[in-house]
Amino acid sequence: MWQERRAMNILVLNCGSSSAKFQIIQTDLNMIKEGTERCLASGNCERIGLEEGLVSMKATGKTGIKDLVKPLPDHRAAINAIFEWIESGKAEIEGVNSLKDIDAVGHRILHGAERFVKSTLINDEVIEGITECIPFGPLHNPAQLKGIVACREILGESIPQVAVFDTDFHSTMAPKAFMYGLPYEYYERLHIRRYGFHGTSHRYITNKYAEINNIPVEKVNIVSVHLGNGSSICAVKDGKCVDTSMGHTPLEGLLMGTRCGDIDPAALLYIMETDGLSAKEIDTLINKKSGLLGVSGLSSDMRDLEDAALKDKNPRAQLALDMFAHRVIKYIGAYIAEMGGADAIVFTGGIGQNSPVMRAMTCETLPCLGIELDKQKNEELKRGSAGEISKDGSKVKIYVIPTNEELMIARDVVNCVEKSK
Ligand code: ADP
Repeated sequence: MWQERRAMNILVLNCGSSSAKFQIIQTDLNMIKEGTERCLASGNCERIGLEEGLVSMKATGKTGIKDLVKPLPDHRAAINAIFEWIESGKAEIEGVNSLKDIDAVGHRILHGAERFVKSTLINDEVIEGITECIPFGPLHNPAQLKGIVACREILGESIPQVAVFDTDFHSTMAPKAFMYGLPYEYYERLHIRRYGFHGTSHRYITNKYAEINNIPVEKVNIVSVHLGNGSSICAVKDGKCVDTSMGHTPLEGLLMGTRCGDIDPAALLYIMETDGLSAKEIDTLINKKSGLLGVSGLSSDMRDLEDAALKDKNPRAQLALDMFAHRVIKYIGAYIAEMGGADAIVFTGGIGQNSPVMRAMTCETLPCLGIELDKQKNEELKRGSAGEISKDGSKVKIYVIPTNEELMIARDVVNCVEKSK
């Protein structure tokens, strides 16, 4: 009997160092074309490795589970918790009543180094490759590998799994953009170079910008500005990344929630010697204690700092905001110069999507480059929606486009699975 083929239900997993976020997305080639994909469920397992893990998961439109305390000794336990919920009969996920209804899994993988330049179906060789990339992403790659192995064991080897790398969009950078000025030997021997991260987000923004403007992706010339807890900027010329602010690790570039971004490495050597810090201690200092948190002494969260600076007139919160905007301006200017001009700058990420204050601060001096913000459009843009916020006649347009890395991953899964047929 002829049966209508149903769309795929794709589990998208994003395992961080101490968390496992997921979404179940319904999609297929047709839905991708029509942009009608749907998120059926989402959730997060946090505090993995601590005594009391925290689990929140819900089917779209339902109440679900919020902040359930559960032991989550490792990522495997977190993934078990997600699968148990799906199988529990209480999840109320439309069309997904058991693990049998999951057709494929997409994994966000932080670091593919030079080994992986596009999303790929996972087999033993790919697992080996991701394992070899562990030294480049020591906190994330092992967690993400655990996710892959757990899914294989629980769902079975016949369920396709796809790896989507944060680094892959940046693989088109030329050596002049990705090389550091160290002796060449360090690139050859230790593979020290700029890799760039947030690639899935910058790729999504590039595609979405093309869709909104009804142009082919190859005609996209934008500066993609992803501002969140982690922040990065990407110069996109003819639809391809030509430069990006994050480097060998996600530390370089902009000031971030707790990461210092660009710094003279000699200053770190001086701190190490003067205060007798080990490499590990310096790593913690520049990744966990710096950035907005370190400068303000208050918080890594932009909302707190905007409140402290604007309502309480806290000078260090104001300094943190000023420094944050200053770096963004510096990179936008540099990238427009590198690209020989751009058609638009696009804000995304938690801050880029939701903070008219920060968008206005980062656009303040940009009219000299033909980038003119419309203050009213900026203020009035509804949170979570896409829109243009530049003045009519602005030579370079300004857009806000909410990112959707999970959707990009689900699309890659469909494309990889279809290609393998
Ligand atoms: P991550 O890099 O962890 O994915 P997000 O992209 O979710 O981070 O961004 C988190 C940041 O977005 C936080 O600094 C948060 O304060 C900021 N943010 C979220 N909503 C707002 C808002 N309404 N105004 C200002 N900042 C906001």
